[in-house]
Amino acid sequence: MKVIVVDDSSTMRRIIKNTLARLGYTDIIEAEHGLDALTKLDGVDMIFTDWNMPEMDGLTFVKSIRSSDSYKKIPIIMVTTEAAKEDIVEAIQSGVNNYVVKPFTPDILKSKIEAVLNR
Ligand SMILES: [Mg+2]
Repeated sequence: MKVIVVDDSSTMRRIIKNTLARLGYTDIIEAEHGLDALTKLDGVDMIFTDWNMPEMDGLTFVKSIRSSDSYKKIPIIMVTTEAAKEDIVEAIQSGVNNYVVKPFTPDILKSKIEAVLNR
């Protein structure tokens, strides 16, 4: 399973990558923001995206994926500090499959991934 980690923070990308590796995911690519990620989606099976990023933020990224014929079915997990209830609702309405609030534990990430894959 190939996954992409989209975040403008290289530190956060490393944290997410390391956590995913511990969970058994090793085919991981990275992007710095939504525009960057849109050029890297071929063969990707799951997307982890930040919300606040330059160039193209996570919400705009999610909406463009959901309106793309090629990529609209890829599961998306948003990983962000935006934890207000209305933010979560907005993200879900935009097409996010699940939501992880930073900081997170490996167990939380695991359960969110399983919830998406078992759907
Ligand atoms: Mg960010």
